[in-house]
Amino acid sequence: MQHRVTLIPGDGIGPEVTESARRVLEATGVKFQWDTAIIGNQALDKFGTPLPDQALQSIKKNKVALKGPLTTPIGTGFRSINVALRQSLDLYACVRPCKVYSGINTPFKDVDIVVVRENTEDLYAGIEFAKGDSGTRQLLDLVREITGKEIRKDSAVSLKVISETASRRIVRFAFEYARRNGRKKVTAVHKANILKFSDGLFLETAREVAREYSDIQFNDMLVDAACMELVRKPQIFDVLVLPNLYGDMISDLCAGLVGGMGLAPGANIGDEIAVFEPTHGSAPKYAGQNKVNPMAMMLSGVMMLRHLGEKHAADRLEGVIAEVIAEGRSLTYDLKPDNPVGTSQVADAIAAKLK
Ligand code: NAD
Repeated sequence: MQHRVTLIPGDGIGPEVTESARRVLEATGVKFQWDTAIIGNQALDKFGTPLPDQALQSIKKNKVALKGPLTTPIGTGFRSINVALRQSLDLYACVRPCKVYSGINTPFKDVDIVVVRENTEDLYAGIEFAKGDSGTRQLLDLVREITGKEIRKDSAVSLKVISETASRRIVRFAFEYARRNGRKKVTAVHKANILKFSDGLFLETAREVAREYSDIQFNDMLVDAACMELVRKPQIFDVLVLPNLYGDMISDLCAGLVGGMGLAPGANIGDEIAVFEPTHGSAPKYAGQNKVNPMAMMLSGVMMLRHLGEKHAADRLEGVIAEVIAEGRSLTYDLKPDNPVGTSQVADAIAAKLK
């Protein structure tokens, strides 16, 4: 069977790591028809918008995409296309497994954590008020009227929005994921002691959903305490479920535990559509240098194979990546500072073992 997949090379290091992942996915023998879609800076130059409708239509039609990272301008310019893509396709669950492979030089052993991040709301809902705007002035007046609290006039405001609906579906997703993947425990991470209403609602909903899954253990932890425990004894964690912003930060922390951004894959999943992409960004300073680690992108491809029902090919590809890591020869600078190989040589080594 041939799988039709939208391929988004992305920008910065995106095209190099995406090409490496495409090569090793094809080397498994699984047949793909790739529909290449341009999103990001290149699309802005070519179509006048960073997120052209053709690309969205291609993902909607194929229902599966493999995506390289995209650069987001800081402070000014268009909002994050990654966030826009997740919101417009309602890819509400971001799944980021962080596992230590044998041979990785890290003080953290036996780590095998899956971060499940809510992807559509929280401070990422995109409801922001700029300093001095008339909308901001109205908002500050309204806050004073309702709460009696005075916010400084020279403030900018971003709204943190947490709904019961989105909390319920992400926590349910985490428990279903745990059940399907033989996981034992789900931990909800929050700051409900301070953010009593928003994170409080997330926690209350998580506790309610947990009661439907008596076969899976459940606990909750404050995000600050979770950061400390993650670096002290990461082995106590299994599946984490978090609101959007904490999920973003904790998934980078977990990537650090298992060897860095070059080894952290991910997927953005909705009810019908799934977009597979690494946790890392476009690392512009390394673009075009054949330098960075393509394994996070390849492991995102492994997740895609599993999603497509190609379990055997997924296990084989993950096994070969693990073998190449354990051998320690064909590794990039992040895993092998002395005498590293380039991005495409990692793909060569993995593809050769799959033949
Ligand atoms: P980044 O992940 O791009 O890079 C941070 C550092 O991590 C790099 O300097 C490098 O040292 C390391 N790194 C990243 N990928 C690596 C790889 N494959 N192999 C080895 N080392 C790797 O984060 P950043 O510098 O904060 O962001 C750069 C751009 O990427 C920004 O515009 C940001 O908005 C964007 N971004 C996009 C996505 C996405 O498309 N999903 C995710 C995160 C950041």
